[in-house]
Amino acid sequence: MESLQLKTKLLYLLLSVALGLIVVGFVGYFNLYTMKKHVDTLYFGSLVPLSELGSINDAYHHELEAGIYRWKEGDISDDDLARNLTLGLEHVNQMWASYIAHHKRPEELPYIHYTETQIDIMQRYFEEIRSLASNHTRRATISVVTLSDNVTSIHNTISSLISYEIAAAKYERSILISHHENSLMQLAIMLGVILLGVMGFAWRIFMQIEIQQQQLLESSEALQHLNIKLEQASYTDTLTGIFNRRYFNLVYEREFKRALRAGKTIIFIMVDIDFFKQYNDTYGHLQGDVALQNVAHILKSSLLRPGDFVFRLGGEEFGIILTETDCSNGRKMAERLRFNVESLNMEHKGNKKSGVVTISLGAICITPTASMNNETLLRSADINLYAAKERGRNQVVFTTTL
Ligand code: GH3
Ligand code: MG
Ligand code: MG
Repeated sequence: MESLQLKTKLLYLLLSVALGLIVVGFVGYFNLYTMKKHVDTLYFGSLVPLSELGSINDAYHHELEAGIYRWKEGDISDDDLARNLTLGLEHVNQMWASYIAHHKRPEELPYIHYTETQIDIMQRYFEEIRSLASNHTRRATISVVTLSDNVTSIHNTISSLISYEIAAAKYERSILISHHENSLMQLAIMLGVILLGVMGFAWRIFMQIEIQQQQLLESSEALQHLNIKLEQASYTDTLTGIFNRRYFNLVYEREFKRALRAGKTIIFIMVDIDFFKQYNDTYGHLQGDVALQNVAHILKSSLLRPGDFVFRLGGEEFGIILTETDCSNGRKMAERLRFNVESLNMEHKGNKKSGVVTISLGAICITPTASMNNETLLRSADINLYAAKERGRNQVVFTTTL
């Protein structure tokens, strides 16, 4: 898993979220469908039949029984009674047919058959009353007591069926409620699992991003470090460890422009070791390198201010730039450099004059103007260096004009 790419992991995350939601959707749909079925069973299997059974009871009481009483009291005619009885019985038949048509549970079938038999008996009983009522000689045999007993009996039978339907409805409702609770529980568990899964996945991705970010940061820091080293290396002379010609070109141009802008003095000193060809010839090239390193080191350690720069320009030639100082101080500095190198006391038999390694310095100190070109400054320093060599070496030629 850890080796999986971040993109693949994200894809997995999205797929699992999508899959989870689809499953939740399906389960939710299925549960809603089942609950609808339960509600239908409750409504059409119990509630509607209840009203039909109630209506049958009403028909027996109000249309049939009460009609006969009213007829007996003389409130309605024979014809009205006959019509009322016919309508009442039709009403009962219709309601019963409708009741029977609904879904019935197998357990309630014995109750239904029993009730149906009782209704048939009552049907025949009321039909008999209808025929007795139309017969003037026999109508007196219609017993109010029997009528009341019969209606009470059918009322009780139908009421039992109603009670059964109510009990069944309560049972249906309890199933519906428990299904509803189960559905809620199922959905809550599924959502919880999905949420936990997504959080776990997201956490792993987050951690991996963290690690990768850290790695990126570390490698970019390492790269930066390497770049600095590389830059330093590209500006450093490998033999002496001081700045090289490449860096000189950069610093020289920069400092010249800075002095021009600020109206400040800039000093450039060109240094060349005296009779160095002979030094090599006498002590060998390797010893020559050591002498170069010593001279470079003494030049560098003699100039420690932030505005001072020492470069190896090539061969046994060095360049020095001094900023943040004035001409008289620059002259003193050049003289001190010469003195410091001589004071190293490095034997140089080829230097007939002093017997030690010495340097000649050509220096120029000016405040740059717009008409001045930085090349002329270098040329002037070179001319001064040549003059120092001409005048016998181991000396400084320092000018303040071009
Ligand atoms: P001058 O007093 O007129 O400067 O005499 P010079 O002999 O020093 O003459 P020049 O400056 O022309 O000689 C430069 C010599 O420096 C030539 C070469 O042998 C030597 N040199 C240049 N680069 C190196 C280096 O990297 N190592 C060593 N050992 N010698 C070098
Ligand atoms: Mg030279
Ligand atoms: Mg030389």
